[in-house]
Amino acid sequence: MKFIFDFLKNNWIILLLVVIVATSFGYSDYSKRTIPKEEIGISEIAEQVEKGMVEKIEITGNQLKIFFKEKDEKGQSKTETTYKEDGVSLTQYGITPEKVKIDIKNAEAGSIWWGIFSTFVPFLLLAGFLWFIFRQAQGANSQAMSFGKSKARLNIQNVKTTFADVAGSEESKKDLIEVVDFLKNPKKYRDLGAQIPRGVLLIGPPGTGKTLLAKAVAGEAGAPFFSISGSEFVEMFVGVGASRVRDLFAKARRNAPCIIFIDEIDAVGRQRGAGLGGSHDEREQTLNQILVELDGFDTEENVIVMAATNRPDVLDPALLRPGRFDRQVLVDLPDIKEREAILAVHAKGKPLAKDVDLKKLAQKTSGFSGADLKNLLNEGAILAARENKKNIGQADVAEAIEKVMMGPERKSKVISEKEKQITAYHEAGHALVAHFSPHADPVHKISIISRGRALGYTWNPPEQDRVLQSRSEFEDDLAVMLGGREAELLTFKEVTTGAHNDLARVSKLARAMVTEYGMSDKLGPISLNGKDSVVFLGKDLAEAKNYSEKTAQIIDEEISRIIEMAGKAARDILIKNKAILKKLTDELLVKETLEREEFEALMG
Ligand code: ADP
Ligand code: MG
Ligand code: ZN
Repeated sequence: MKFIFDFLKNNWIILLLVVIVATSFGYSDYSKRTIPKEEIGISEIAEQVEKGMVEKIEITGNQLKIFFKEKDEKGQSKTETTYKEDGVSLTQYGITPEKVKIDIKNAEAGSIWWGIFSTFVPFLLLAGFLWFIFRQAQGANSQAMSFGKSKARLNIQNVKTTFADVAGSEESKKDLIEVVDFLKNPKKYRDLGAQIPRGVLLIGPPGTGKTLLAKAVAGEAGAPFFSISGSEFVEMFVGVGASRVRDLFAKARRNAPCIIFIDEIDAVGRQRGAGLGGSHDEREQTLNQILVELDGFDTEENVIVMAATNRPDVLDPALLRPGRFDRQVLVDLPDIKEREAILAVHAKGKPLAKDVDLKKLAQKTSGFSGADLKNLLNEGAILAARENKKNIGQADVAEAIEKVMMGPERKSKVISEKEKQITAYHEAGHALVAHFSPHADPVHKISIISRGRALGYTWNPPEQDRVLQSRSEFEDDLAVMLGGREAELLTFKEVTTGAHNDLARVSKLARAMVTEYGMSDKLGPISLNGKDSVVFLGKDLAEAKNYSEKTAQIIDEEISRIIEMAGKAARDILIKNKAILKKLTDELLVKETLEREEFEALMG
């Protein structure tokens, strides 16, 4: 049945053509019927009438049915059918009512039904097809319209995921425990007049467990979990995205307290009006509707919207405003310890051979996401099963690592041992210089897990917002930024491209010191930032110089001198603390991330 339906659906045009052709044949067949086919001539009838052999003649239109007096075995009159021309009376043939009984039947009676039938059947068929096509289009349409019923996957019971299923990601979990509490005990917060947050944005690379964390929040709170992906909003028909948002939120409100999860929000949440040429009306309407719904919650409603993205940079700032997705939770790629924990979670139910060491496995999979690790164990199990083994051995796992690394879905970067080592020295360099420079901010975190395009990062945020900055602070900042490159140079006698982002920041800051802040002794207190710029499409198209070539040369010299000095400062610190640099690097290679306490303990 389904097959037939699909066939009709896919081949309706052909079927339509067949029907049209068939009906036109039908027409010609019908018209053929009206062509007299004489079996017995009318003049012959006339003769027989003269002879008195005919009992009666029935006339239907131009068809004559002749009943003879002669009977057959059953006592029925023998009959014969013939035709006359239209509009010719029988009397012209000498057949008169006096000679024979003539019954005139309603001329059209016989053919009228056929006429009606043949006239209307094509129309009926056509109408049927139109209805069919229409219904098809509408089917898709109404599917979209009734999305609230069909598309949002409402898992009231299904969310059994808890934080225990999420290995590692302790920081993210800490941030989210609060959200669970909002859902569970809203009264506690409301009594103190606190407004419960609306939106939580999970930011992190693909496969790091954002969806998993959102589910875990729902599971922990025992709340229904509505999920939809950003790309589902913008599917096919104009105006559907916005109505889907409306439906989703309406349904969620009825089920409060609950969680709405919008995956890949960047698909709809891109900055509005950013595209040059061509409007993205549909997307913008959807985004606007999300904003409207986020604002539309009243304080009594206990619905929390969670969203996930790996491109927070492209999101419309309106989404990130207070009262919307103002809580942001970073979900990073796992470090070595977290990888081991994730492997342990997914090794459950998979019999591992004794030679498989999860710790070693974690060491070898730097740069893998949670999803990659899950996939790794799964591939290992498949390989073992293929060889009819009873458990998963070291060889299977080793092969699986390669498979996952080569796999088409992998987008995250895998870091080689050498790259890892260089990155560790580089980041340790930044951290050491920051630690030993009196005016630099303390180090909060060092990591050699790649984030974005950087292979690692050292995080030393300002202790408090600095409005006034001194020259010595800037100089120390420069030294910290150059510390990574200097550490590479010192250790490997060579620099890599890893420092290019640092260098860009260094040049920018040094230039600002000379041309904007008047921190160059040679040039003195003067602003030379050439603000007489031509503005085109909101961008500085051309900056007109407001100083001479000679000054330009001095600026360049001063910038070089400042950078040179900062580089030397960094170098001096590193040479003096070469042993500590090595110790820090080794620690980083083992742990991959170091928190502030661990770092400071190491520094003594
Ligand atoms: P994202 O939404 O960030 O792309 P997912 O949440 O869909 O990633 O993760 C894909 C799968 O990877 C999850 O279903 C889970 O099995 C596994 N996974 C990812 N991170 C973790 C983790 N921290 N602990 C356990 N499993 C994880
Ligand atoms: Mg996801
Ligand atoms: Zn760096």
